[in-house]
Amino acid sequence: MAKYVYLFNEGKADMRALLGGKGANLAEMSNIGLPVPPGMTITTEACTAYYEQGKKLPNGLMDDVFVNLKVVEKKVGKLFGDPADPLLVSVRSGAMFSMPGMMDTILNLGLNEQTVKGLADKTDNPRFAYDAFRRFIQMFSDVVLEIPKSDFERLLEEQKHAYKVTYDQELPAEALRGLIDKYKDHVKSKLGKPFPEEPREQLSMAVEAVFRSWNNDRAIIYRNLNKISHDLGTAVNIQSMVFGNMGNDCGTGVAFTRNPSTGEKVLYGEYLTNAQGEDVVAGIRTPQPIAKLKDEMPEVFKQFVATAELLEKHYKNMQDIEFTIERGKLYMLQTRNGKRTAAAGVKIAYDLVNEGLVTKRDAILLVEPAQLDKLLHRQIDPSAKLDVIAKGLPASPGAASGKVVFDADDAEQWAKNGQKVLLVSTETTPDDIHGMVAAQGILTSRGGMTSHAAVVARGMGKPCVCGCEAIKVDFDRKEFMVGSKVIKEGDLVSIDGATGNVILGTVPMVEPTMSKEFLTFLGWADELKRLGVRANADTPEDAVKAREFGAQGIGLTRTEHMFMGQDRLPHVQAMILADGEAERRKALSFLLPMQEGDFYGILKAMEGFPVCIRLLDPPLHEFLPDMTELMVEIAEMKITGKDAAELPAKEALLKKVRTLHEFNPMLGHRGCRLGITFPEVYEMQMRAIFNAAARLTKEGYKVLPEVEIPLTIDVNEMKFFKERIDAIAAEVMAAAQVKFHYTSGTMIELPRAALLADELAEVSEFFSFGTNDLTQTTLGFSRDDAEGKFLSDYLDKKILKENPFIVIDRKGVGKLMRMAVEGGRKTKPDLLVGICGEHGGEPNSVEFCHIIGLDFVSCSPYRVPIARLAAAQAAVSTGEVLGTR
Ligand code: PEP
Ligand code: MG
Repeated sequence: MAKYVYLFNEGKADMRALLGGKGANLAEMSNIGLPVPPGMTITTEACTAYYEQGKKLPNGLMDDVFVNLKVVEKKVGKLFGDPADPLLVSVRSGAMFSMPGMMDTILNLGLNEQTVKGLADKTDNPRFAYDAFRRFIQMFSDVVLEIPKSDFERLLEEQKHAYKVTYDQELPAEALRGLIDKYKDHVKSKLGKPFPEEPREQLSMAVEAVFRSWNNDRAIIYRNLNKISHDLGTAVNIQSMVFGNMGNDCGTGVAFTRNPSTGEKVLYGEYLTNAQGEDVVAGIRTPQPIAKLKDEMPEVFKQFVATAELLEKHYKNMQDIEFTIERGKLYMLQTRNGKRTAAAGVKIAYDLVNEGLVTKRDAILLVEPAQLDKLLHRQIDPSAKLDVIAKGLPASPGAASGKVVFDADDAEQWAKNGQKVLLVSTETTPDDIHGMVAAQGILTSRGGMTSHAAVVARGMGKPCVCGCEAIKVDFDRKEFMVGSKVIKEGDLVSIDGATGNVILGTVPMVEPTMSKEFLTFLGWADELKRLGVRANADTPEDAVKAREFGAQGIGLTRTEHMFMGQDRLPHVQAMILADGEAERRKALSFLLPMQEGDFYGILKAMEGFPVCIRLLDPPLHEFLPDMTELMVEIAEMKITGKDAAELPAKEALLKKVRTLHEFNPMLGHRGCRLGITFPEVYEMQMRAIFNAAARLTKEGYKVLPEVEIPLTIDVNEMKFFKERIDAIAAEVMAAAQVKFHYTSGTMIELPRAALLADELAEVSEFFSFGTNDLTQTTLGFSRDDAEGKFLSDYLDKKILKENPFIVIDRKGVGKLMRMAVEGGRKTKPDLLVGICGEHGGEPNSVEFCHIIGLDFVSCSPYRVPIARLAAAQAAVSTGEVLGTR
């Protein structure tokens, strides 16, 4: 039989797959001599075996647990089930990847009618003992026996009412004793048998419940959302209890070694005196900031600071630590790499390098590329006049506006109907996860910076304001009150997760600025990456933005956007409607100077960097009015007799629109096929590019135009265009008496182009993968139809793992790409190869482009920093780094 149980001192930090993140770190902390209450971890393999064997605990598993429990008993000096002085344990889930609050925890396991007396005598504190017992029954019943938590909360409320008290802590020992009896009666009535008294039975039931909780709904949603495999299973940690609720020299808390919102190097966290385990995380009481511990328990604080520093040095990363203080003694219950915002991630990576704790290579891996998106987006305009109605804790930065809803299901439903919503609640629980996903932001009236809402929102990168006690939520009336103001469901409210402000109405936003740390960090990424990163940009403004974000050129300028302006469309339409070449050339002569102006602006903004300009791509009917609308217009003209003089022109237009109508425009008369049928259209564009290049060269600018032909399938197409490109370039240079460098090449957007890449390379100086079309044509999916109709079924039924329009389908499309790179470079070893489809800014796809040896990726300007970081991570994690650092 595999070894299913590891004592903490048998594990190590790098055994996360087997022991789960929590188990591995408890082991590591025990081994470096930190005060960790002794315990053991049941492996994730045992969980997998449990499911493989039809939800049965593996044979011998519990025997192993009890053998190891003997060792724990010895270390603690107490026996499990001992009526005089019982060892109590906690039972917690702990998967390989942190899934905060998704699975369940049971504390104080081992209590029963006898041991509770022992605990009361030994601590000389019956109130504490009964409170521990009633909490245990409550948690165990909820998690293991699946009796709703709310039943017990109701009984607790009734007891408080009977004793005329407001808070749980005011209930005296005898009230808690009575409550235990009520709880047990309730369990018996629900279960038809008594609450399990035997500690060993309690333990094996709890272990099984943790295994089961791996597949509860919220855990499954969380894994889907975070792309965590459902096959990993969870480990179970069984740890001897320490108590933070034995009196005022006790407490429990959670702290980050640095501020997880800003990255600032200060201890950041909260604690509650005289409280147990989950009280802090559950957000039910609003806790004290950690700095206060310095006054309340100076010695413990000193020790805690030293431990936090040691853990950071040991793990070389910001840590998220759980601790308990029992009678003035500090215990560490958990440490893990702390979740953080994008801004904090960058600052921490930057600081850790400067503190000499990590190398630039390590630092690059500390930030998730997709997270950078948040730094590049808008914040509330600081000069805006805001109607701030309340202030809570700034739990997760960013600003959000939305219609107020009070329930996670409503949030999901409203969002499905296209509404932007703000989820408002007293506090959130793991059951609210779907509503949090759907909401723009989260506002809670209770709970601290480490409450469930705060932790989960930060992980999702959603704005969140917590602990906003000024708002009073009334779920029945679906409204909240602030002072005398009443905010109803559907009212617009904004929150600023960086300041904690709650604002009435929507708010103006401003563009982000890039911090010194961010720019330096991206500079390190540039030193480490091999791939070039360019931007897709169609205007000089986009080109300037792209340069600001560090683009090293333009990978795709789509020229069709330039055909759309009001000053151009009439000429474009005249060109399309022209009878014969002569008339078409006349229309084109109006367009030429305009196009030249466009290219002049872009080439100038990208001075010194390559600019890849794609000739016209979409079918011509896109520039004409809609056929149905035109038919209606003509019918109306005929009936009313209005504007009769225009009727013949309209009818001619309709005729043309009809002839241009296509059954399947995606595969129709578009791309270079237009240039084959109407060479003069492409020739006008070539001339516009070269005229602009000639003018700029004369003005002293260095320009590098790349002329790109879309949607090719054959080398003969390329030959047809290359002849014209070279002839026009030569003509323009001779006329202007200047020389400039230019190249020409093709997009690879169709399987045939990839298959015949060796031939295409004969007349191409570069290839650029248009993976939007290549994905459509390789899978035979039209993107809009697929995403609107059936792709979600493919994803839900796990036929495809990812949306292939977002993440490159490495298996299919990727195979064609590899082939094309190999084929192309066989013919022309120095062939420049890039990608300009949407995938060029998606981290997983960028990694693939690195692996297959592309020269550059190109994406929208805002994704350029993401692509730079992803390219560096690909270089570092595939072990390929230019130079050593
Ligand atoms: C592509 O097909 O990937 C591409 C970049 O072209 P477009 O998206 O304009 O069709
Ligand atoms: Mg395309």
